[in-house]
Amino acid sequence: MRGGLPARLARVAQMLARLPGVGEKTAQRYALFFATTADEATARELGTELVTLREHVRPCERCNHIAEVGEDGRARCAICLDTRRDGTLLCIVARVQDLLAIERSGAMRGRYFVLGRLLSPLEGVGAEDLPLEALRSRLQDPGEPIREVLVATPPSVDGEATALLLAREMGAMGIQVSRIASGVPHGGDLEFADQVTLGRAIEGRKSFG
Ligand SMILES: [Zn+2]
Repeated sequence: MRGGLPARLARVAQMLARLPGVGEKTAQRYALFFATTADEATARELGTELVTLREHVRPCERCNHIAEVGEDGRARCAICLDTRRDGTLLCIVARVQDLLAIERSGAMRGRYFVLGRLLSPLEGVGAEDLPLEALRSRLQDPGEPIREVLVATPPSVDGEATALLLAREMGAMGIQVSRIASGVPHGGDLEFADQVTLGRAIEGRKSFG
């Protein structure tokens, strides 16, 4: 027993507490739910899905967005495969969560590229740690040449530093670069900006670099 819980239950609660946004109390509630309220199938299904998730879901080979691995063994996301989207416009974001937030706003009709991280001199993340080579080859893809890039990194110190670096890189390649307009609060997280604000920030984008 630990904290009044059987050890096995406490262990599950501890694992759940590692999830983002889940505190100790919520984790205990979830663990109790699986131990008592939920029917066995629910727990079994969740367990199986979690175990196989990593085999079936990988970063998209074109844009790093999360994608389901196809029967051919290749991972390409729904956005890259969607022929109705504007293939000349590319939106660069820091994280998958930012991409999802922008998609919810409905203001972006082009494709994306997910950096995975931001330049951060304080944390020792330099240009060599960003996937710039993959980005360059994406921009020059002969099947879908990009004409305009919208840099949608967050309006934080690291986000701005990254935007400047990208603008320099792409300006040299002759690509038109724009930056999301202000409106998203400085230091704010795109993920938590409301859809209207984010939509306006994208529509009101400014030429940059
Ligand atoms: Zn993709």
